[in-house]
Amino acid sequence: MSLLQGKKGIILGVANTNSIAWHIANHCVKQGATCGFGHLPGEKMQRRVGKAMQEGGYGDAWMAPCDVGDDASIEQFFAAAKEKFGTIDFLVHSLAFANHEYLKKDWGNFTSTPRDVYKGACDISAYSLIAVTRAALPMMPGGGSVIALSYYGAEKVIPGYNVMGVAKAALEATARYLSFDVGPKNVRVNCISAGPIRTLSAMAVGGIDEMFSHVSKKAPLQRNVEGDEVGKTAVYLLSDLASGVTGETIYVDCGFNIVGL
Ligand code: NAD
Repeated sequence: MSLLQGKKGIILGVANTNSIAWHIANHCVKQGATCGFGHLPGEKMQRRVGKAMQEGGYGDAWMAPCDVGDDASIEQFFAAAKEKFGTIDFLVHSLAFANHEYLKKDWGNFTSTPRDVYKGACDISAYSLIAVTRAALPMMPGGGSVIALSYYGAEKVIPGYNVMGVAKAALEATARYLSFDVGPKNVRVNCISAGPIRTLSAMAVGGIDEMFSHVSKKAPLQRNVEGDEVGKTAVYLLSDLASGVTGETIYVDCGFNIVGL
């Protein structure tokens, strides 16, 4: 059985073949979905994303620029997506940004976070979920599924994650409020809280190697999670198998979040 047969969706956040969004896309396509992609504007990014899509075996998929920090860019992107797809069944928000100068493990690094860095991190990484869901809603007349990617630093202090932890807390709360708001339209909104995975964004976080090593020692499964495993949970949430699930944060972290010591 193909879980997403006949479904169409938009995936935001593929940068390369390490991206969590790329793993999600691979599984969606494998399960029969037709996917369209949004990427940061610029030729270099377009080439990179195109190459990743080719490696995934869907090099001819539709893609267009979408900077989630810019309302005009979001509007243009979803207008083009509507022209291409008419309606969609799902939306994947797999993106985040914070100035890496403030993602260091040094004492005082979090306290020194400037207002604009805090605002920028929350804008791109959390507010954008509202903006893109709002833009996608008219394309989901019969309902749909939206997912966003979070991390455990939303709820516990992970040294170095700093302002991104604050943005992820906002993202998870945003997903809950959104799920309540759009529930009557049969649109579901959930977060996946993934364990650390080696991607471009993860490498900007101070102390990331320590996180990998700690998780592999302490997590019940005694290892770090793979992007591929996040992709499989994403398919579940985007499919009808999860028709009764909304407003949740689901951990795909080899069980690390349940451990106290
Ligand atoms: P990644 O670097 O591959 O992807 C991040 C994406 O965000 C990139 O495609 C980038 O272009 C996009 N982006 C940044 N600013 C943007 C903007 N203004 N408009 C549009 N796109 C923008 O890294 P990733 O690890 O795959 O990150 C995907 C998501 O997963 C993020 O939300 C991240 O916080 C989350 N996450 C990552 C990990 C991890 O350890 N890698 C763990 C848990 C959650």
